[in-house]
Amino acid sequence: MPLIVCLLCDRQREVFRVQSGMVCANCGVGDPRIVRDRRIWSDWEPKDGLPKIEAQRRTLAGLKWIQDNKGHKKGFPVAKFKDIFGDWPPREIEAVPPEAPTASLLRRIAWDNMRWKKQRRAEEKAEPKVVAQFPIPPEGLPSFMNADDWAVKL
Ligand SMILES: [Zn+2]
Repeated sequence: MPLIVCLLCDRQREVFRVQSGMVCANCGVGDPRIVRDRRIWSDWEPKDGLPKIEAQRRTLAGLKWIQDNKGHKKGFPVAKFKDIFGDWPPREIEAVPPEAPTASLLRRIAWDNMRWKKQRRAEEKAEPKVVAQFPIPPEGLPSFMNADDWAVKL
């Protein structure tokens, strides 16, 4: 049976069946890591994970660290936090100092970036840019081509 591991609070549980849209019962975050191979995960015991506020504190601290070290914009930690938890950071953790991110948080961010790129590619495919377009000539000239002929998209 696969093991479901929350990337934010470390809660882990074995499940019978992996479903789409699974959300952590502890911190409410989706997109858990699904581990199927016992050889790559030494600790298979169920874990309750960090209290939600503690997971949020650690996440915000990690995001601040990433901002400092990767030169992201000032709003990055808070925006990414909202992207992950669906809400702004609670007051009591706003001032948390930067702290090296966990491997799980980095993995989550890498997944998000990959998904974003994939989506962008799909959108570009669905709506190919017009490469060149002939100008529509003044009316009546030349008579053998109408406006539609000239507007043909390449
Ligand atoms: Zn969680």
